[in-house]
Amino acid sequence: MGVGKLVMEVGIDGRPSRIMEFEDGYSAQRLFHQGYSYTYDDVIFLPGYIGFPVEQVDLSTKLTRNISLNIPCVSSPMDTVTESSMARAMAALGGIGIIHANIPPSDQASLIKAAKSSHFPVLSNPVLRSPSDSIISLEDFADSPCILVTDSGDCRGKLVGYVAKSDWNNLADKETQLAEYMVKFSDFAPWDCDLGRMIRYFEEKPGKEFTPIVKGGEIVDVAGREDVERLRGYPRLVGGGSMGPNGEWMVGAAIGTREADKERLQHLVKAGVNVVVLDSSQGNSLYQIDMIKYVKKTYPELDVIGGNVVTMYQADNLIKAGVDGLRVGMGSGSICTTQEVCAVGRGQATAVYKVSSLASQYGVPVIADGGISNSGHIVKALSLGASTVMMGSFLAGSTEAPGAYVVQDGRRLKKYRGMGSLEAMTKGSDARYLGDKSKLKIAQGVVGAVADKGSVLKFVPYTLQAVKQGLQDLGAQSLRDAHDMIKTTLRLEVRTGAAQIEGGVHGLVSFEKKPF
Ligand code: 5GP
Repeated sequence: MGVGKLVMEVGIDGRPSRIMEFEDGYSAQRLFHQGYSYTYDDVIFLPGYIGFPVEQVDLSTKLTRNISLNIPCVSSPMDTVTESSMARAMAALGGIGIIHANIPPSDQASLIKAAKSSHFPVLSNPVLRSPSDSIISLEDFADSPCILVTDSGDCRGKLVGYVAKSDWNNLADKETQLAEYMVKFSDFAPWDCDLGRMIRYFEEKPGKEFTPIVKGGEIVDVAGREDVERLRGYPRLVGGGSMGPNGEWMVGAAIGTREADKERLQHLVKAGVNVVVLDSSQGNSLYQIDMIKYVKKTYPELDVIGGNVVTMYQADNLIKAGVDGLRVGMGSGSICTTQEVCAVGRGQATAVYKVSSLASQYGVPVIADGGISNSGHIVKALSLGASTVMMGSFLAGSTEAPGAYVVQDGRRLKKYRGMGSLEAMTKGSDARYLGDKSKLKIAQGVVGAVADKGSVLKFVPYTLQAVKQGLQDLGAQSLRDAHDMIKTTLRLEVRTGAAQIEGGVHGLVSFEKKPF
């Protein structure tokens, strides 16, 4: 028997006059109970009733028991996805970035501090020099649009001026001391100046090209007019940034489950980390359970996300150990070879539904991790019970992802690699995949490249507008609605191979796919 939808018509006297049951579509409970491992593309939701405008769809959600976000987006703890620039941008958007652990603990802590140092969504890593220095090469600018000049040459000194790349390019004698041609500074922007305030700041100072950003008497960053103008043209940031209790952006970080990770955690807590993610590909282990208990005992105020899990049994163990959030996905990542190498894992749609249906009974939010390559996948993950999605490849081609673009066959690409690839493990990420100190390293991921996507500050808001439209089509006005509906009225079906082809663009000689 198909499980139908009850439709009740109410008579003039307010009493039910007609009750109908349509046998149309499958409930999630029934669909995911048939012995198949489904992924996002395998399933399709049947539309519901639209009774509200798309602007009224509310995407606010929970990352963990105690952390709320304005948008359901989390960037993966991968060394080609999340460092300070991504973490700052994700927080400014209302989501959160999780800084990877494939670096020494003190470096990871510095990345957290840099992400938190300013509310301006673009991070510039300013280069500092003293007035008596000269700039000999363009490389001295590193990624920064200008070089700041302080009387001592470091961030604690008094700011005296700046040199823009363009000014330096026009300089005939590159040996000239900075004091001779720097532009003098008279003021600066405070660290909590967000995009809106920064726009007004530059409007009020028409001749100004840059402003240093200062926090606690130290220069933490620099904002440029060019960036401000660029951001102005982007869609308005959705819902406000993710602010921690002290007013700084919230930033998460990954740790492993080894003894040395306890010391790493100390560094991260000192740097103000808001949440830690225990980064294991198979999270249901003695090591992880011990670590969850350790974190909760040592830092009771710090939320800990466990995983990865794909079954109710795994999830139950971690929930009992005390996790505040669960990361779901094994073998669903675009760079991942776990299912091929180890023969374990689960189709991501099934995994998200199964784990969420257990975790929701304990109030533990679920992160659907991996396998997101379009807005439809996000709608599916959230409607199947996840509270957030964690993305790697979807964000790796952005300006904010670590690394420089390379041009290959006329296309701008960025490197994207699995943390279980041999290349990444050689740098230290083997703890996630081996758990112990195995001498023989077996890869569970690959090294690849993704296309340039521009700034997350632009394409994430567009993507989320599409997600809102998807939820509206289902008749869900919020994630809470969607989570209630998956247990009651939402209906879905499996798509055959032909239905999947039909569901994409087909039958055209050529086409251009421009999402926005
Ligand atoms: P994506 O968004 O690219 O589909 O997947 C990203 C997710 O894949 C990460 O958040 C992480 O859970 C997982 N992941 C990252 N690197 C590897 C890897 O090398 N092997 C496996 N099995 N999973 C990986």
